[in-house]
Amino acid sequence: MLRSAAFSLLLPASLLAQQPAPVTAIKAGALIDGAGGAPVQNAVILVQGERITAAGANVAVPRGATVIDLSAFTVLPGLIDAHVHLAGRTIGDGDWQHANLTNSPAQLALLGAAHALQTLEAGFTTVRVVGSAHMGDLALRNAINAGWLPGPRIVGAGISFGIRGGHCDETDGFWPGALHHEGGIEDGVANGADAVRDAVRYMVKYGADVIKICATGGVLSPTDSAGSQQYTEEEMRVIVETARMLDRRVAAHAHGTAGIKAAVRAGVTSIEHGSILDDEAVRLMKEHGTYLVPTLLAGYTVDSMARAGALPPAVAAKAMAIAPRMQQSFRLALAGGVRIALGTDAGVMRHGTNAREFELMVRYGMPPMQAIQAGTLVGATLLGREADVGSLVPGKYADIVAVRGDPLKDITLLQHVDFVMKGGSVVKQNGQLVGRSAAGVP
Ligand SMILES: [Zn+2]
Repeated sequence: MLRSAAFSLLLPASLLAQQPAPVTAIKAGALIDGAGGAPVQNAVILVQGERITAAGANVAVPRGATVIDLSAFTVLPGLIDAHVHLAGRTIGDGDWQHANLTNSPAQLALLGAAHALQTLEAGFTTVRVVGSAHMGDLALRNAINAGWLPGPRIVGAGISFGIRGGHCDETDGFWPGALHHEGGIEDGVANGADAVRDAVRYMVKYGADVIKICATGGVLSPTDSAGSQQYTEEEMRVIVETARMLDRRVAAHAHGTAGIKAAVRAGVTSIEHGSILDDEAVRLMKEHGTYLVPTLLAGYTVDSMARAGALPPAVAAKAMAIAPRMQQSFRLALAGGVRIALGTDAGVMRHGTNAREFELMVRYGMPPMQAIQAGTLVGATLLGREADVGSLVPGKYADIVAVRGDPLKDITLLQHVDFVMKGGSVVKQNGQLVGRSAAGVP
Protein backbone atom coordinates (compact mmCIF):
# COMPACT_ATOMS: atom_id res chain seq x y z
CA MET A 1 0.00 0.00 0.00
CA LEU A 2 2.73 2.39 0.97
CA ARG A 3 4.62 1.47 -2.17
CA SER A 4 1.67 2.16 -4.44
CA ALA A 5 0.94 5.44 -2.65
CA ALA A 6 4.50 6.52 -3.29
CA PHE A 7 4.14 5.42 -6.89
CA SER A 8 0.94 7.39 -7.42
CA LEU A 9 2.61 10.47 -5.93
CA LEU A 10 5.50 10.13 -8.33
CA LEU A 11 3.43 9.39 -11.41
CA PRO A 12 1.99 12.83 -12.13
CA ALA A 13 5.45 14.43 -11.88
CA SER A 14 6.96 11.94 -14.32
CA LEU A 15 4.04 12.41 -16.68
CA LEU A 16 4.38 16.19 -16.43
CA ALA A 17 8.02 15.96 -17.35
CA GLN A 18 7.08 14.19 -20.57
CA GLN A 19 4.33 16.62 -21.49
CA PRO A 20 5.33 19.20 -24.09
CA ALA A 21 5.27 22.84 -22.96
CA PRO A 22 2.11 24.73 -23.97
CA VAL A 23 2.20 26.43 -27.37
CA THR A 24 1.70 30.14 -27.92
CA ALA A 25 0.79 31.24 -31.44
CA ILE A 26 1.50 34.83 -32.44
CA LYS A 27 -0.52 36.07 -35.42
CA ALA A 28 1.54 38.74 -37.17
CA GLY A 29 0.06 41.20 -39.67
CA ALA A 30 3.54 41.36 -41.18
CA LEU A 31 6.75 39.65 -40.15
CA ILE A 32 10.23 41.10 -40.66
CA ASP A 33 12.68 38.31 -39.93
CA GLY A 34 15.81 40.33 -39.09
CA ALA A 35 17.85 38.48 -41.71
CA GLY A 36 16.88 40.80 -44.56
CA GLY A 37 14.12 38.65 -46.05
CA ALA A 38 11.11 40.36 -47.63
CA PRO A 39 8.33 41.02 -45.09
CA VAL A 40 5.87 38.12 -44.83
CA GLN A 41 2.18 39.08 -44.63
CA ASN A 42 -0.17 37.27 -42.24
CA ALA A 43 2.49 35.11 -40.66
CA VAL A 44 2.26 32.91 -37.59
CA ILE A 45 5.03 32.36 -35.04
CA LEU A 46 4.79 29.39 -32.71
CA VAL A 47 6.51 29.59 -29.35
CA GLN A 48 7.08 26.71 -26.99
CA GLY A 49 8.85 27.33 -23.71
CA GLU A 50 11.57 29.91 -24.35
CA ARG A 51 12.01 29.25 -28.05
CA ILE A 52 10.46 29.68 -31.47
CA THR A 53 9.35 26.38 -33.02
CA ALA A 54 7.91 27.66 -36.30
CA ALA A 55 7.56 30.97 -38.17
CA GLY A 56 6.10 31.86 -41.54
CA ALA A 57 3.01 32.34 -43.70
CA ASN A 58 2.00 28.69 -43.91
CA VAL A 59 2.15 27.83 -40.24
CA ALA A 60 -1.12 26.48 -38.82
CA VAL A 61 -2.24 27.44 -35.30
CA PRO A 62 -2.35 24.15 -33.33
CA ARG A 63 -5.48 23.29 -31.39
CA GLY A 64 -5.32 24.48 -27.81
CA ALA A 65 -2.59 27.04 -28.47
CA THR A 66 -2.79 30.40 -26.69
CA VAL A 67 -3.21 32.98 -29.43
CA ILE A 68 -1.68 36.45 -29.28
CA ASP A 69 -3.28 38.51 -32.00
CA LEU A 70 -0.82 40.98 -33.50
CA SER A 71 -2.50 40.99 -36.90
CA ALA A 72 -2.64 44.81 -36.82
CA PHE A 73 1.13 44.97 -36.21
CA THR A 74 4.51 44.41 -37.80
CA VAL A 75 6.41 41.81 -35.81
CA LEU A 76 10.21 41.84 -35.62
CA PRO A 77 12.99 40.13 -33.64
CA GLY A 78 13.83 41.68 -30.27
CA LEU A 79 16.10 44.65 -30.94
CA ILE A 80 19.82 44.56 -30.14
CA ASP A 81 21.96 47.49 -28.99
CA ALA A 82 25.65 46.64 -29.19
CA HIS A 83 26.86 49.64 -27.16
CA VAL A 84 25.26 50.65 -23.87
CA HIS A 85 26.33 51.51 -20.31
CA LEU A 86 23.59 50.49 -17.88
CA ALA A 87 25.06 50.64 -14.38
CA GLY A 88 26.00 54.31 -14.21
CA ARG A 89 24.65 57.85 -14.15
CA THR A 90 23.27 59.15 -17.43
CA ILE A 91 25.14 62.18 -18.77
CA GLY A 92 23.60 65.33 -17.33
CA ASP A 93 22.18 63.49 -14.29
CA GLY A 94 23.60 65.01 -11.11
CA ASP A 95 27.37 64.93 -10.71
CA TRP A 96 27.67 62.52 -13.65
CA GLN A 97 31.35 63.28 -14.32
CA HIS A 98 32.46 61.91 -10.97
CA ALA A 99 29.54 59.56 -10.31
CA ASN A 100 31.62 56.40 -10.54
CA LEU A 101 33.68 57.69 -7.60
CA THR A 102 30.93 59.39 -5.58
CA ASN A 103 28.23 56.69 -5.89
CA SER A 104 28.63 53.31 -4.22
CA PRO A 105 28.81 50.26 -6.46
CA ALA A 106 25.46 49.17 -5.00
CA GLN A 107 23.89 52.52 -5.90
CA LEU A 108 25.11 52.28 -9.49
CA ALA A 109 23.95 48.67 -9.82
CA LEU A 110 20.45 49.58 -8.59
CA LEU A 111 20.33 52.43 -11.08
CA GLY A 112 21.46 49.88 -13.67
CA ALA A 113 18.45 47.71 -12.82
CA ALA A 114 16.13 50.63 -13.61
CA HIS A 115 18.01 51.33 -16.86
CA ALA A 116 17.78 47.64 -17.80
CA LEU A 117 13.98 47.75 -17.48
CA GLN A 118 13.77 50.97 -19.53
CA THR A 119 15.83 49.25 -22.22
CA LEU A 120 13.71 46.10 -22.28
CA GLU A 121 10.50 48.14 -22.32
CA ALA A 122 11.78 49.89 -25.45
CA GLY A 123 12.05 46.53 -27.22
CA PHE A 124 15.77 45.91 -26.77
CA THR A 125 15.95 42.32 -25.60
CA THR A 126 19.74 41.98 -25.95
CA VAL A 127 22.45 44.53 -25.23
CA ARG A 128 26.22 44.56 -25.09
CA VAL A 129 27.40 46.61 -22.11
CA VAL A 130 30.82 47.95 -23.04
CA GLY A 131 32.15 49.07 -19.70
CA SER A 132 30.81 49.64 -16.19
CA ALA A 133 32.59 50.86 -13.09
CA HIS A 134 32.83 48.08 -10.48
CA MET A 135 31.60 45.53 -13.09
CA GLY A 136 28.00 46.52 -12.38
CA ASP A 137 26.96 45.15 -15.76
CA LEU A 138 28.10 41.65 -14.82
CA ALA A 139 26.16 41.76 -11.53
CA LEU A 140 23.14 42.95 -13.49
CA ARG A 141 23.54 40.22 -16.11
CA ASN A 142 23.68 37.57 -13.42
CA ALA A 143 20.62 38.99 -11.61
CA ILE A 144 18.60 39.10 -14.84
CA ASN A 145 19.68 35.58 -15.85
CA ALA A 146 18.70 34.30 -12.40
CA GLY A 147 15.24 35.83 -12.82
CA TRP A 148 15.62 38.33 -9.97
CA LEU A 149 15.00 41.31 -12.22
CA PRO A 150 13.50 42.00 -15.63
CA GLY A 151 15.98 43.19 -18.22
CA PRO A 152 17.57 42.45 -21.56
CA ARG A 153 20.06 39.66 -22.16
CA ILE A 154 23.44 41.19 -21.36
CA VAL A 155 26.80 40.57 -22.99
CA GLY A 156 29.07 42.39 -20.54
CA ALA A 157 32.62 43.72 -20.64
CA GLY A 158 33.13 44.43 -16.93
CA ILE A 159 35.56 47.35 -16.67
CA SER A 160 36.77 48.92 -19.91
CA PHE A 161 40.46 49.74 -19.85
CA GLY A 162 43.11 51.84 -21.54
CA ILE A 163 46.28 53.83 -20.92
CA ARG A 164 47.10 55.91 -17.83
CA GLY A 165 45.34 59.25 -18.25
CA GLY A 166 43.34 57.98 -21.21
CA HIS A 167 39.62 57.87 -21.93
CA CYS A 168 39.05 54.70 -19.90
CA ASP A 169 41.00 55.96 -16.83
CA GLU A 170 38.39 56.73 -14.13
CA THR A 171 40.99 58.62 -12.10
CA ASP A 172 41.84 61.04 -14.91
CA GLY A 173 41.39 64.71 -13.99
CA PHE A 174 42.21 64.39 -10.27
CA TRP A 175 45.43 65.72 -8.75
CA PRO A 176 48.01 63.03 -7.95
CA GLY A 177 47.19 61.55 -4.57
CA ALA A 178 43.62 62.87 -4.44
CA LEU A 179 42.28 59.33 -4.52
CA HIS A 180 45.12 57.95 -2.35
CA HIS A 181 46.10 55.56 -5.11
CA GLU A 182 47.22 55.74 -8.70
CA GLY A 183 44.78 54.28 -11.22
CA GLY A 184 45.02 50.49 -11.65
CA ILE A 185 42.98 47.91 -13.47
CA GLU A 186 39.99 48.48 -11.12
CA ASP A 187 39.95 52.06 -12.45
CA GLY A 188 40.38 51.02 -16.09
CA VAL A 189 44.16 51.47 -16.38
CA ALA A 190 46.60 48.96 -17.90
CA ASN A 191 49.86 49.92 -19.62
CA GLY A 192 52.32 47.76 -21.51
CA ALA A 193 52.21 44.17 -22.74
CA ASP A 194 52.31 42.42 -19.35
CA ALA A 195 49.68 44.63 -17.74
CA VAL A 196 47.25 44.49 -20.66
CA ARG A 197 47.60 40.70 -20.86
CA ASP A 198 46.82 40.52 -17.15
CA ALA A 199 43.93 42.97 -17.57
CA VAL A 200 42.22 40.68 -20.09
CA ARG A 201 42.68 37.71 -17.75
CA TYR A 202 41.36 39.77 -14.81
CA MET A 203 38.15 40.67 -16.68
CA VAL A 204 37.58 37.10 -17.83
CA LYS A 205 38.25 35.82 -14.29
CA TYR A 206 35.40 37.98 -12.98
CA GLY A 207 32.99 37.04 -15.74
CA ALA A 208 33.43 39.38 -18.72
CA ASP A 209 31.87 38.07 -21.94
CA VAL A 210 33.75 40.56 -24.09
CA ILE A 211 36.79 42.83 -23.66
CA LYS A 212 36.41 46.61 -24.12
CA ILE A 213 39.44 48.85 -24.57
CA CYS A 214 40.07 52.50 -25.33
CA ALA A 215 42.24 52.75 -28.44
CA THR A 216 42.00 56.56 -28.63
CA GLY A 217 40.95 59.56 -26.58
CA GLY A 218 37.30 60.34 -25.97
CA VAL A 219 34.77 63.14 -25.96
CA LEU A 220 33.51 63.05 -22.36
CA SER A 221 36.88 62.50 -20.66
CA PRO A 222 38.28 65.70 -19.13
CA THR A 223 41.88 65.99 -20.33
CA ASP A 224 42.60 63.97 -23.48
CA SER A 225 42.14 64.78 -27.16
CA ALA A 226 39.44 62.65 -28.78
CA GLY A 227 41.42 62.00 -31.93
CA SER A 228 44.75 60.93 -30.45
CA GLN A 229 45.80 57.28 -30.43
CA GLN A 230 46.25 55.93 -26.89
CA TYR A 231 47.09 52.23 -27.00
CA THR A 232 49.96 51.22 -29.25
CA GLU A 233 49.28 48.64 -31.94
CA GLU A 234 51.59 46.25 -30.04
CA GLU A 235 49.55 46.59 -26.84
CA MET A 236 46.34 45.95 -28.77
CA ARG A 237 47.83 42.86 -30.46
CA VAL A 238 48.59 41.42 -27.02
CA ILE A 239 45.03 42.20 -25.87
CA VAL A 240 43.45 40.55 -28.92
CA GLU A 241 45.75 37.52 -28.73
CA THR A 242 45.04 37.00 -25.00
CA ALA A 243 41.30 37.50 -25.48
CA ARG A 244 41.23 34.97 -28.34
CA MET A 245 42.95 32.35 -26.19
CA LEU A 246 40.16 32.83 -23.66
CA ASP A 247 37.49 32.77 -26.38
CA ARG A 248 36.59 36.43 -26.05
CA ARG A 249 36.25 39.22 -28.62
CA VAL A 250 37.59 42.75 -28.31
CA ALA A 251 35.64 45.97 -28.81
CA ALA A 252 37.75 49.10 -29.27
CA HIS A 253 36.54 52.60 -28.51
CA ALA A 254 38.21 54.64 -31.28
CA HIS A 255 37.58 58.13 -32.68
CA GLY A 256 40.85 59.13 -34.40
CA THR A 257 42.02 57.61 -37.69
CA ALA A 258 45.45 56.31 -36.58
CA GLY A 259 43.99 54.58 -33.53
CA ILE A 260 41.19 53.03 -35.61
CA LYS A 261 43.67 51.61 -38.13
CA ALA A 262 45.98 50.27 -35.42
CA ALA A 263 43.07 48.59 -33.65
CA VAL A 264 41.81 47.03 -36.88
CA ARG A 265 45.28 45.75 -37.79
CA ALA A 266 45.61 44.35 -34.25
CA GLY A 267 42.48 42.30 -34.90
CA VAL A 268 39.72 43.81 -32.75
CA THR A 269 36.22 42.62 -33.62
CA SER A 270 34.54 46.03 -33.56
CA ILE A 271 35.37 49.70 -33.74
CA GLU A 272 33.11 51.70 -31.43
CA HIS A 273 32.23 55.22 -32.70
CA GLY A 274 34.77 55.18 -35.58
CA SER A 275 34.29 58.92 -35.84
CA ILE A 276 37.16 59.91 -38.15
CA LEU A 277 37.45 57.28 -40.87
CA ASP A 278 39.27 57.69 -44.16
CA ASP A 279 39.31 55.49 -47.27
CA GLU A 280 42.20 53.40 -45.98
CA ALA A 281 40.46 52.78 -42.63
CA VAL A 282 37.32 51.67 -44.47
CA ARG A 283 39.37 49.37 -46.72
CA LEU A 284 41.17 47.88 -43.70
CA MET A 285 37.88 47.28 -41.86
CA LYS A 286 36.40 45.57 -44.91
CA GLU A 287 39.55 43.46 -45.33
CA HIS A 288 39.56 42.35 -41.68
CA GLY A 289 35.79 41.95 -41.40
CA THR A 290 35.80 44.50 -38.56
CA TYR A 291 32.38 45.77 -37.47
CA LEU A 292 31.59 49.45 -37.04
CA VAL A 293 29.29 50.43 -34.18
CA PRO A 294 28.68 54.07 -35.16
CA THR A 295 26.81 55.43 -32.07
CA LEU A 296 25.31 58.29 -34.10
CA LEU A 297 22.88 59.02 -31.29
CA ALA A 298 25.73 59.65 -28.86
CA GLY A 299 27.24 62.15 -31.30
CA TYR A 300 23.87 63.80 -31.82
CA THR A 301 23.21 63.98 -28.07
CA VAL A 302 26.55 65.47 -26.99
CA ASP A 303 26.42 67.94 -29.87
CA SER A 304 22.94 69.10 -28.77
CA MET A 305 24.05 69.31 -25.13
CA ALA A 306 27.16 71.28 -26.11
CA ARG A 307 25.07 73.79 -28.06
CA ALA A 308 22.70 74.13 -25.10
CA GLY A 309 25.64 74.92 -22.79
CA ALA A 310 25.07 71.73 -20.80
CA LEU A 311 28.65 70.44 -21.02
CA PRO A 312 31.93 71.77 -19.58
CA PRO A 313 33.63 73.98 -22.25
CA ALA A 314 36.53 71.60 -23.04
CA VAL A 315 34.15 68.66 -23.49
CA ALA A 316 31.67 70.79 -25.48
CA ALA A 317 34.40 71.78 -27.96
CA LYS A 318 35.30 68.13 -28.52
CA ALA A 319 31.63 67.17 -28.91
CA MET A 320 30.94 69.82 -31.56
CA ALA A 321 34.07 68.86 -33.49
CA ILE A 322 33.43 65.11 -33.50
CA ALA A 323 29.65 64.91 -34.20
CA PRO A 324 29.72 66.04 -37.86
CA ARG A 325 32.71 63.78 -38.52
CA MET A 326 30.73 60.80 -37.21
CA GLN A 327 28.05 61.34 -39.84
CA GLN A 328 30.61 61.61 -42.66
CA SER A 329 32.41 58.50 -41.47
CA PHE A 330 29.15 56.57 -41.23
CA ARG A 331 28.36 57.42 -44.87
CA LEU A 332 31.90 56.40 -45.88
CA ALA A 333 31.67 53.04 -44.07
CA LEU A 334 28.20 52.40 -45.53
CA ALA A 335 29.39 53.10 -49.08
CA GLY A 336 32.48 50.95 -48.50
CA GLY A 337 30.45 47.92 -47.42
CA VAL A 338 31.74 47.76 -43.82
CA ARG A 339 29.60 45.58 -41.52
CA ILE A 340 27.60 47.99 -39.36
CA ALA A 341 25.87 47.00 -36.11
CA LEU A 342 23.52 49.30 -34.22
CA GLY A 343 24.89 50.80 -31.01
CA THR A 344 23.83 53.94 -29.20
CA ASP A 345 26.13 54.56 -26.22
CA ALA A 346 22.97 54.71 -24.08
CA GLY A 347 23.90 56.42 -20.85
CA VAL A 348 25.06 59.33 -22.96
CA MET A 349 21.42 59.68 -24.02
CA ARG A 350 18.52 58.42 -21.89
CA HIS A 351 18.05 54.67 -21.65
CA GLY A 352 14.94 53.50 -23.47
CA THR A 353 15.41 56.00 -26.31
CA ASN A 354 17.81 53.63 -28.08
CA ALA A 355 15.61 53.19 -31.18
CA ARG A 356 16.30 56.79 -32.25
CA GLU A 357 19.55 55.33 -33.61
CA PHE A 358 17.54 53.62 -36.39
CA GLU A 359 16.17 57.01 -37.40
CA LEU A 360 19.66 58.56 -37.59
CA MET A 361 21.08 55.61 -39.55
CA VAL A 362 18.30 55.99 -42.12
CA ARG A 363 18.66 59.78 -42.15
CA TYR A 364 22.35 59.39 -43.05
CA GLY A 365 21.68 57.04 -45.92
CA MET A 366 21.14 53.48 -44.69
CA PRO A 367 18.13 51.69 -46.24
CA PRO A 368 15.51 50.93 -43.53
CA MET A 369 15.78 47.15 -43.97
CA GLN A 370 19.56 47.32 -43.52
CA ALA A 371 19.09 49.47 -40.40
CA ILE A 372 16.71 46.86 -38.96
CA GLN A 373 19.26 44.12 -39.69
CA ALA A 374 21.98 46.24 -38.01
CA GLY A 375 19.79 46.31 -34.90
CA THR A 376 18.92 42.60 -35.00
CA LEU A 377 20.90 39.84 -36.79
CA VAL A 378 24.08 41.83 -37.51
CA GLY A 379 24.21 42.86 -33.85
CA ALA A 380 23.64 39.26 -32.75
CA THR A 381 26.48 38.11 -34.99
CA LEU A 382 28.85 40.77 -33.64
CA LEU A 383 28.01 39.56 -30.13
CA GLY A 384 28.52 35.91 -31.13
CA ARG A 385 24.91 35.17 -30.13
CA GLU A 386 23.43 34.57 -33.59
CA ALA A 387 22.53 30.97 -32.73
CA ASP A 388 20.14 32.24 -30.05
CA VAL A 389 18.90 35.71 -31.02
CA GLY A 390 18.68 38.24 -33.87
CA SER A 391 16.14 36.67 -36.23
CA LEU A 392 12.72 35.03 -36.14
CA VAL A 393 13.56 31.45 -37.03
CA PRO A 394 12.86 28.13 -35.31
CA GLY A 395 15.34 27.24 -32.58
CA LYS A 396 16.09 30.80 -31.43
CA TYR A 397 14.77 32.43 -28.26
CA ALA A 398 11.31 33.89 -28.66
CA ASP A 399 12.54 37.48 -28.33
CA ILE A 400 9.88 39.33 -30.28
CA VAL A 401 8.64 42.93 -30.62
CA ALA A 402 5.78 44.51 -32.53
CA VAL A 403 5.00 48.00 -33.79
CA ARG A 404 1.82 49.40 -35.30
CA GLY A 405 2.41 50.22 -39.00
CA ASP A 406 5.28 49.60 -41.39
CA PRO A 407 8.73 50.51 -40.05
CA LEU A 408 10.14 50.18 -43.59
CA LYS A 409 8.01 53.21 -44.54
CA ASP A 410 8.50 55.06 -41.22
CA ILE A 411 11.54 53.95 -39.26
CA THR A 412 10.55 56.12 -36.27
CA LEU A 413 7.78 53.57 -35.49
CA LEU A 414 10.51 51.50 -33.82
CA GLN A 415 10.59 54.18 -31.11
CA HIS A 416 7.08 53.11 -30.07
CA VAL A 417 7.14 49.39 -29.47
CA ASP A 418 3.70 48.10 -28.44
CA PHE A 419 4.62 44.49 -27.68
CA VAL A 420 7.71 42.86 -26.19
CA MET A 421 8.31 39.18 -25.54
CA LYS A 422 11.57 37.89 -24.11
CA GLY A 423 12.29 34.17 -24.04
CA GLY A 424 8.62 33.33 -24.57
CA SER A 425 7.34 35.57 -21.73
CA VAL A 426 5.30 38.65 -22.52
CA VAL A 427 6.95 41.75 -21.06
CA LYS A 428 4.79 44.41 -22.68
CA GLN A 429 1.42 44.29 -24.38
CA ASN A 430 -0.75 47.10 -25.81
CA GLY A 431 2.06 49.49 -24.94
CA GLN A 432 1.83 48.58 -21.24
CA LEU A 433 4.42 46.78 -19.13
CA VAL A 434 2.91 43.48 -17.99
CA GLY A 435 2.87 43.19 -14.19
CA ARG A 436 5.44 40.82 -12.82
CA SER A 437 5.55 39.07 -9.47
CA ALA A 438 8.78 38.40 -7.58
CA ALA A 439 7.16 35.38 -5.95
CA GLY A 440 9.46 32.98 -7.77
CA VAL A 441 12.67 34.66 -6.63
CA PRO A 442 14.54 32.53 -4.07
ZN1 LIG B 1 30.45 53.99 -24.66
